[in-house]
Amino acid sequence: MGFPCGEAKRYTGPDQKTKRAAASGRRSRHTLIRMSHDDADRTVTTTGTTAVTPEEEVARICAELIRIDSSNYGDGSGPGERKAAEYVMGELAEVGLEGTLLESEPGRATVVVRLEGADSSRPGLAVHGHLDVVPADAADWQVDPFAAEERDGCIWGRGAVDMKDMDAMILANIRHFARTGTKPARDTTFVFFADEEAGGTYGSHWLVDHHPQWFEGVSEAISEVGGYSITVPTPHGQQRAYLLQTAEKGIAWLRLRAHGRAGHGSVPNDENAIVRLAAAVGRIAAHEWPREYIASVRELLDTLSTMTGLSSAEADLEPLLATLGGAQGFVRGTLRDTANVTMLESGYKHNVIPQTATAAVDCRFLPGHEDALMATIRELAGEHVEVEVVHRDVAIEAPFSGDLVESMKQALLREDPEAAVLPYCLSGGTDNKALGRLGISGYGFAPLRLPADLDFAPMFHGIDERVPTSSLRFGARVLGDFLRTC
Ligand SMILES: [Zn+2]
Repeated sequence: MGFPCGEAKRYTGPDQKTKRAAASGRRSRHTLIRMSHDDADRTVTTTGTTAVTPEEEVARICAELIRIDSSNYGDGSGPGERKAAEYVMGELAEVGLEGTLLESEPGRATVVVRLEGADSSRPGLAVHGHLDVVPADAADWQVDPFAAEERDGCIWGRGAVDMKDMDAMILANIRHFARTGTKPARDTTFVFFADEEAGGTYGSHWLVDHHPQWFEGVSEAISEVGGYSITVPTPHGQQRAYLLQTAEKGIAWLRLRAHGRAGHGSVPNDENAIVRLAAAVGRIAAHEWPREYIASVRELLDTLSTMTGLSSAEADLEPLLATLGGAQGFVRGTLRDTANVTMLESGYKHNVIPQTATAAVDCRFLPGHEDALMATIRELAGEHVEVEVVHRDVAIEAPFSGDLVESMKQALLREDPEAAVLPYCLSGGTDNKALGRLGISGYGFAPLRLPADLDFAPMFHGIDERVPTSSLRFGARVLGDFLRTC
């Protein structure tokens, strides 16, 4: 909707002349006029030349990153992030910055670069993105997912939403600091992680375990899956609202293993492992997890209720959730703990009763709920079914108040004064979980002002991922403003 298929054209970025100018951080007056668009603000350097602004190169960087296939299959079979990391290193080197490329395993590369802040006595900030993407099946897409075509004002491709858009916004701003000799407000550690899409084992968790010194003095972090706008219907029309992510559910990936008695398929058997597993899975599926609203969910629902005039009462929540559009999936997942069965495995011959049967269950728990969730699952699994934790990660929750939150809000409102800024909890997870192990409070703040008819949230890991170039430019401006004022 609003983004019909038009004539596709490959986004090729600025021409060679502009690129050379970008490399030197200057450009001719002719180039300036030709590239001028919307409300680009210009930064004049001390020598009187104009430096390329973040918003002028953010789309180029986003497109170039999308064209580097960094699919993460979760089993080490992907190409890895090395090429994307080398690209980031090149963009840093071009403006005179020396990044550090760290490999956890061959090809699994993370890039870190630190910039000194205007006031180094204050606690540091981490600003991070991930370089990997989830795989894309080209047959499902309207475009080649790794071509970064520009159509109808959007850049299309895997990572346009998650999260080469924000990577580009971050990188464009780092380059601007370097070119203009200006500083972020606080000492800032910028990280481009490997392996976020498989839990960060070879990226964020590895860096926190092996090189925590990069985060010394860092108190807060910002990253993905927050800061984008939705358009909410109000009694007087509609209002834009930015969803600032302040919490993440925790993850418990469990394996249920039922034990039974093996035997001949013709002989009655009341200790069948498959039947025991099926009963356990049925009990888990039927379990009604109690609703509990954590602070960010409560505040989101209450503020939305005020904006829309709709009820936030539990019995009557559907109309209110519907006002969130595509983002309601994320919010629905945060009203309670959840447990979804995702894989089943058992048996090897039609006439053999197997001795074991296993199921995979993806559980997500609210902050503070991990122990209670595990106890409930064990009880539902029953006496013949073991519960094994395959992977777990923490739930996190940061306050929707304080100086950093105020800085994020103000940076958004300076560009979009009529908008609302709302907290929300993410049903999934990000690399902020790993940084949380160092006591760093993490927020999702990848600012994007989006058209009302672009259904953005479902494009995370979805098909036909695309981001408007105007949104990228907005994000580059807001992020830069935030980094200078936070
Ligand atoms: Zn992501």
